[in-house]
Amino acid sequence: MLNIKNFLPKHMEDRGLLSLKENIDIINNIIEQRKVPKKGLKEEHIKLLLRILSFMDTDKDPKVIQIGEREGRVLTNLQRESVFDFCHGVGRSGNLTDPQPKAPGASIMYKLTNKILESFLKELGLNVNAIATPVATGMSIGLVLSTVRKIYKSDVVIYPYAAHKSPIKATSFVGFRMRIVDTELFGDALKVPVDNIEKAIKKEENPVVLSTLTFFPPREEDIVDIAKLCEEYDVPHIINGAYAIQNTFYIDKLNKAFKYRVDAVVSSTDKNLFTPIGGAFIYTKNKKFLKEISFTYPGRASANPIANTLISLLYLGVDKYKELMKEQKRCKKLLDEQLEELCKKIDERVLKVKNPISTAITLKNSLDVAKKLYNLRVTGPRGVLGNDKFGTSCLKGYPYNYLVVNSAIGVKEEDIIKVIEKLKDILLN
Ligand SMILES: *Cc1c(COP(=O)(O)O)cnc(C)c1O
Repeated sequence: MLNIKNFLPKHMEDRGLLSLKENIDIINNIIEQRKVPKKGLKEEHIKLLLRILSFMDTDKDPKVIQIGEREGRVLTNLQRESVFDFCHGVGRSGNLTDPQPKAPGASIMYKLTNKILESFLKELGLNVNAIATPVATGMSIGLVLSTVRKIYKSDVVIYPYAAHKSPIKATSFVGFRMRIVDTELFGDALKVPVDNIEKAIKKEENPVVLSTLTFFPPREEDIVDIAKLCEEYDVPHIINGAYAIQNTFYIDKLNKAFKYRVDAVVSSTDKNLFTPIGGAFIYTKNKKFLKEISFTYPGRASANPIANTLISLLYLGVDKYKELMKEQKRCKKLLDEQLEELCKKIDERVLKVKNPISTAITLKNSLDVAKKLYNLRVTGPRGVLGNDKFGTSCLKGYPYNYLVVNSAIGVKEEDIIKVIEKLKDILLN
């Protein structure tokens, strides 16, 4: 290791080196094991790991001679820090996950991230291959669609309607047509009848189905039935699972769907893993398809979203994440109880929709509740008018106006208690 001979008495030198070794070992273990740690790492160890890896990039070689047009010439430290000094980014033009000759460190960082991500998903019960992507959910769906076109010649997305603009824009971004299959009312829930998806499949020559696992109520989706259908008709099936890995309800559904046809699932790193917005991850049982996705990405990418994913996984560890999953469930239960109670007082009701994250209540009049909550410094709740076609996930409209309140991973009991208090302030006078 370091030559510190003759500075100190031998036993102190040994003591110092032992301490240093223990710390280096933490990093070495991660690189050797390539698995998500059970117990999260300290920030300083993560920082050291990133520092060591970024020192491996050629732009850090003190004797390097740089004559390319792209040499990681970054102007300020502010900019360097924003990418953890991985100035060359990740990927090689033509393949996102290929090693970049100028950046051995960043290339290792990316491979390590994907390995750790896979082991993390395995810990959650998802036995899949996975890659972290340097773009958010919508763009990652675009990446997957583009890959589907390359392999299966698909040019039309069959979209069981969910009112989110990202997947809709991803579809037009990659130049696909979209055939929307509208939802219908089943009790309070809005669902797309699988028969209608089947009819849509029959009408198209080379379709791909884009289903939505995670959505706010009253929308529900049975991705397992859709996966069965896609298997039967040999149609590619992409699942938008934006915030799917935080709750076992979704993980169970994914595992059931994986028994049939699922080409890829896309989830967000900010919604599931507490990163700043800008990253996602794609996972599948089909390793070859994943490789093709990586081939589809044009050019190099910023290392920032990938490093952010790695940081979250290392910092959290499995134990902390599972603890947060439990807390999310507790909070959702509390939210449901509190909303039930509130609804009784104001002659409204909780919509009967299966959703492990969000709860919706009817609201006859107070349509500006969400706005009032915002002004009371509450963010997140969503007020939707029944006749807002885009808002309700049903082009025919929905019988009620409603308010959606979320209990997503990272939420704390006090957040739930406070939002209920604010709701009472608004609705009970
Ligand atoms: C959050 C979310 C997205 C997000 O897309 P971004 O591109 O990450 O903004 C897409 N679809 C659904 C259903 C979502 O909940």
